[in-house]
Amino acid sequence: MQKLTKQSLLKHCSYIDGRWMDSEQTFEVFNPASGEVISQLCESSASQVAQAINAADNALAVWQALSETDRARLLERWQGLMRESLDDLAYLLTLEQGKPLNEAKGEILHAANYVKLYSELAAQLTEPKPAACAEHQSATVYRRPIGVVTAITPWNFPCSMVLRKAAAALAAGCTVVLKPSELTPLSALALAQLSIEAGIPAGVFSVVVGSNAQAIGEILTQHPKVAKLSFTGSTAVGKKLLQQCAFGVKRTAMELGGNAPFIVFEDADLDAAVEGAIAAKFRNAGQTCISANRFLVQQSIAEEFIAKLVEKTKALKVGNGFDEVHQIGPLINQRASDKMLKIIDTAIEQGAQLLDGGKPVESPGHFFQPTILTNITADMAIFHQEIFGPIVSIATFDNEAQAIQLANQSDQGLCGYLYTSNQQRISRIVRLLQLGMLGINQARLSNPAAPFGGIKQSGMGREGGHYGIEEYLDYQYVCQMK
Ligand code: NAP
Repeated sequence: MQKLTKQSLLKHCSYIDGRWMDSEQTFEVFNPASGEVISQLCESSASQVAQAINAADNALAVWQALSETDRARLLERWQGLMRESLDDLAYLLTLEQGKPLNEAKGEILHAANYVKLYSELAAQLTEPKPAACAEHQSATVYRRPIGVVTAITPWNFPCSMVLRKAAAALAAGCTVVLKPSELTPLSALALAQLSIEAGIPAGVFSVVVGSNAQAIGEILTQHPKVAKLSFTGSTAVGKKLLQQCAFGVKRTAMELGGNAPFIVFEDADLDAAVEGAIAAKFRNAGQTCISANRFLVQQSIAEEFIAKLVEKTKALKVGNGFDEVHQIGPLINQRASDKMLKIIDTAIEQGAQLLDGGKPVESPGHFFQPTILTNITADMAIFHQEIFGPIVSIATFDNEAQAIQLANQSDQGLCGYLYTSNQQRISRIVRLLQLGMLGINQARLSNPAAPFGGIKQSGMGREGGHYGIEEYLDYQYVCQMK
């Protein structure tokens, strides 16, 4: 098995104001592929979290005193170090999160691409713009960094979720205090180490780790010096954090859960649709916010599509992500595996048919069989919940109007997929689908330049491209008498 070559990337405590901060209390990080403990980490105390925020506030002056070009240069260096450390970062990511090593490398390179993009955008930011006004006045609109940003990120993409936020905020001239998931803190701490090596000044990017998310979250959302919270995670936790932020009228960006429809029309290239289905469903063992969650297949081709999908699914190999023969790694923990069993049992009770899989793999770790359920209808629980695991759930439709109605029958509106060869149909229905993102005849959407995010209860705000940087800027309008 691959090993860590650069030991300085393996950290055991929070990084605050340029220092690694020990504490008495510890928590454990587990390898989901074996259930074994990887590491003991120090819990951040409440006073350490507040210290990180105060340091971020003090560092605003230091960070904003640098020219945009200097800030861009530091970000550029940071992403360069990530690429140099690709094997080590991928090792840590697979170790704590479980995804296959090649997916881990893909995530790190994708994250580095965000940092690269934001290093380029940083230099173009703060040019003031004139505004129309009366003849005796001059009017100018400036864009200012909003200040201290706190970020809370999930375990499913421990590297890219961090940098999609942090790189945009830093490029805008903000400082950042990050709390990664307690399940996958090692990647974020390794990124902090690389930020030191890149020369990013103390206090500009701090990482607080701990197992008491609620207590840390209360400080990150309510400390008076925090200007904005950027959160990626479940809709349920997002709603709580929104309430907490309302108290101090903090800005928020919310990247929340999804319930992606994957629509296949009878005129689609079925082999391409099956290939897309495998990618959209089984990447990261189905634990992605843009995972295909509800397959909607036109009745006339359902039998053929399902037969092809079952055949391809049976060929997938589930196992330790360090072994390159495996395409599907473990679920993150036992709770996730229990959740899959419950979803499957309830769906079967409500009339679904189990075609393949349905059980945890009998081995150490939290591996789960790729599973296919058919006969799904919109009145079943599975149709309305984010599965977040390797379960394909297939419903059928008769016509286009019904497909759109089913696709939109969700409180979520993050992402979806559409397979059809009919260009007129595409033109007709794209705007009718209530989704922030849509893949047409392809399942790979990720693009650092594009606005990533959802509508409805999938959140508010966007990450990526110039849309992402806007999240961290305020406008200041100045009107002067001539
Ligand atoms: P989660 O339970 O909401 O946790 C996300 C983050 O919030 C973690 O750091 C977690 O800490 C923290 N947290 C949990 N309870 C908290 C509280 N009361 N106060 C403050 N922080 C709290 O979600 P998850 O299970 O990690 O991630 C899966 C969810 O994220 C899915 O719904 C998925 O769709 C969504 N997601 C969305 C996007 C997007 O871009 N829209 C991307 C990725 C994931 P601990 O882990 O330490 O408890």
